[in-house]
Amino acid sequence: MSRVYNFSAGPAALPEEVLEQAQEEMLEWNGSGMSVMEMSHRGKEFMSIAVETEADLRELMSIPDNYKVMFLQGGASSQFAMIPMNLLQGKKSADYIATGSWSKKAVAEAKKYCEVNIAGASPEGQFAVPGQEQLKLNPDAAYVHYTPNETIQGIEFPYIPETADVPLVADLSSTIISRPIDVSRYALIYAGAQKNIGPAGLTVVIIREDLIGEPIAGTPAMLTYSTLSGADSMYNTPPTYGWYFAGLVLKWLKRNGGLKHMAEVNKRKSENLYNAIDSSDFYNNPVDVNCRSWMNVPFTLASADLDAAFLAEAKEAGLVTLKGHRSVGGMRASIYNAMPEEGVQALVEFMADFAKRNG
Ligand SMILES: *Cc1c(COP(=O)(O)O)cnc(C)c1O
Repeated sequence: MSRVYNFSAGPAALPEEVLEQAQEEMLEWNGSGMSVMEMSHRGKEFMSIAVETEADLRELMSIPDNYKVMFLQGGASSQFAMIPMNLLQGKKSADYIATGSWSKKAVAEAKKYCEVNIAGASPEGQFAVPGQEQLKLNPDAAYVHYTPNETIQGIEFPYIPETADVPLVADLSSTIISRPIDVSRYALIYAGAQKNIGPAGLTVVIIREDLIGEPIAGTPAMLTYSTLSGADSMYNTPPTYGWYFAGLVLKWLKRNGGLKHMAEVNKRKSENLYNAIDSSDFYNNPVDVNCRSWMNVPFTLASADLDAAFLAEAKEAGLVTLKGHRSVGGMRASIYNAMPEEGVQALVEFMADFAKRNG
């Protein structure tokens, strides 16, 4: 067996220790005589997994009691529609801050259900986010939606938008549980699991209870927050294995100092990589220094003609999935929680060596 350092943006690397535990428990979970995959979601064994996973997420993220947590299917992309369907509640428009590919997809979906006011966007020609004072927020909006970390562009908000009484909705797919956040500043947080939480197929939604109301007419039961949350995410069969696996990841985080410790490690990892890029004439990252993502680091080489050689040699060195998103080009290193500091250090050393030989 030879495992590589996998810089994939998602599905992404998982902690090796957790994969090993899942392997150990694959045929039989905890004396139950069966795999978690084979259990009834309503049986007492799976119920204990479900309850404990939610409790661990609540503890790690300090989720206040007046928030519901849902473990759903459909990915973050389903939330792009479910949010307007469920949160408009008689209002006609919603505010969106558009800073990259994912927020634009959220906008396109919301336009099917309501008027969308683009309350802010990246300043023209800049890899950056608008400042609070540049936001044009509508006080009558049903909610304000933004993407704290744009996974493709590698742009991150250095602040939480202040929206007064208008509920703030955040797509935290690529930064959830990478550091402590103040959940009480948000009305709704959602994330596809496959970046920081676990395998693809699970979506976590954290919603302030008082926002769970009547959806727009015609909303399917499977897309209705009140139905899903009222059934504790078991209106139908939930993604049981993903839910269980997320639980293992959360226990791993708890054993390793929780989100505060994770934040320190993630900060060091990203500083190491950005320093390597900034201190070289060969590499470039276009993002404003105060909006740089801790999780997704895009960079270009001195010449795009060298991209193929860079990727091939990196692969030889055990560093894989570094190709940038097709819309941005160049490289992208995604360095979520499960990427160890040694993996980033190995990349930094490879980059220095490659630049010396090709610069
Ligand atoms: C990956 C990603 C998505 C899409 O997630 P799916 O679960 O594939 O729908 C949406 N938003 C952000 C910020 C992402 O990183």
